[in-house]
Amino acid sequence: MVDFTLTDEQKDLRELAHNFAEKEIRPVAWEYDKEGTWPQEIIDKAWEVGLMNTHTPEAYGGPGLDYLSGCLIEEEFGWGCSGIGTSLAANGLASAPVAIGGTEETKKKYLGMLIEEPKLASFCLTEPDAGSDVSGMKTRAVKKGDKYILNGSKCFITNGGYADWFTVYAKTDPDQGHRGISAFVVDGKQDNVTVDKKEDKMGQRASNTATITFDEVEVPAENLLGEENHGFKLAMMTLDRTRPGVAAMAVGIARAAFEFASEYSKERVQFGVPIAMHQAIQFLIADMATKVDAGRLLTWLSAVQLDQGKRNTLACSEAKRFAADSAMEVTTDAVQVYGGYGFIKEYPVEKLMRDAKIMQLYEGTSQIQRLVIAREVLLPRTIEETIPEAEAKGREADQKVAETAPAAA
Ligand SMILES: Cc1cc2nc3c(=O)[nH]c(=O)nc-3n(C[C@H](O)[C@H](O)[C@H](O)COP(=O)(O)OP(=O)(O)OC[C@H]3O[C@@H](n4cnc5c(N)ncnc54)[C@H](O)[C@@H]3O)c2cc1C
Repeated sequence: MVDFTLTDEQKDLRELAHNFAEKEIRPVAWEYDKEGTWPQEIIDKAWEVGLMNTHTPEAYGGPGLDYLSGCLIEEEFGWGCSGIGTSLAANGLASAPVAIGGTEETKKKYLGMLIEEPKLASFCLTEPDAGSDVSGMKTRAVKKGDKYILNGSKCFITNGGYADWFTVYAKTDPDQGHRGISAFVVDGKQDNVTVDKKEDKMGQRASNTATITFDEVEVPAENLLGEENHGFKLAMMTLDRTRPGVAAMAVGIARAAFEFASEYSKERVQFGVPIAMHQAIQFLIADMATKVDAGRLLTWLSAVQLDQGKRNTLACSEAKRFAADSAMEVTTDAVQVYGGYGFIKEYPVEKLMRDAKIMQLYEGTSQIQRLVIAREVLLPRTIEETIPEAEAKGREADQKVAETAPAAA
């Protein structure tokens, strides 16, 4: 039997996240968007009430929440403001490779740091010449004694300007394409790690997006995550775990746009009746509602598969692709329902339409999600091993599961 009932704990958590979004995020969202204001106060409050670092295992001081619970929180963040929500959720992206591939000491130190104080961490994969195809990255890590020397530049790094540490992907074997990439944890507060550029963005303007340059940075060998040259697999495993949350955030944006448009359609009178009485508007509203609900169902499926210890690569790409494209469609239609007012910044849906666009781009574009989906359905994998079994057997087995991961980020 398929049961969509949330547990009492999940319902409480969703209520907590909704109240937080309603009271702390929504009231400042449009103002923060205007100037691209960094939401430090909101980060501090979210950390205080336990809405950050939700997947950090209890062993390292975190709440160790399930992935479905994470999605409930991220939908509410997206509903409140996905720019602020992205700032709140990005620690999860940086932490996942550490949780999967870090040694006990590394996990204690770096995951623990985020639990002890409202600190931030960033995930550094993308480079100017290596976006969808990360195999083209130029950042290098060369082993010298008990250290690696790191050189290179990463762009579009969420929270990059404020991060205390980074998960950095670098080539350790440059001739091996994606099989020559390794992942490291790198301390952010050192002289030769510099924040070069803060991007001025179309949407999600309250989130920080920066270029980070590593110049002869010494990284202790124990900060290598997993095995040398297995960084690409680690990145793919990370994205399987974080894409459900991104999909949830897209559902939240779409839900906000749907709610604004529905209310407006009941108030705005043209041709003597509320525009909601015109069937053309009803059909837009009907499609919006359907896309929000369908996006949420796929998102929950992709999270529940993870919680059940199953590989969710297909479901999370389907969820991310559908929820992101739906958010773009729903917000665009919300502007249509508002008519000319929808195009004006004073009205709420203009921001939502700008914010929705990034959902089709980061953590793998919608085209890349389709590549993954096509590969998963045309070449179904035979490997039966589940995530808990792999984790129980240690990192080596976990990497084996990832061996079959799609070669596109
Ligand atoms: C606001 C923001 C925050 C971000 N945060 C982070 C972060 O925290 N960490 C991080 O590492 N990165 C981050 N990124 C980077 C993001 O993940 C990349 O921008 C994204 O993966 C796409 O890479 P690209 O921009 O180089 O586009 P490209 O890869 O150059 O793609 C350009 C276009 O070509 C299409 N395309 C490319 N290859 C194919 C193909 N094989 N088949 C079909 N179409 C294809 C793409 O879908 C896209 O439409 C962020 C980006 C932004 C804008």
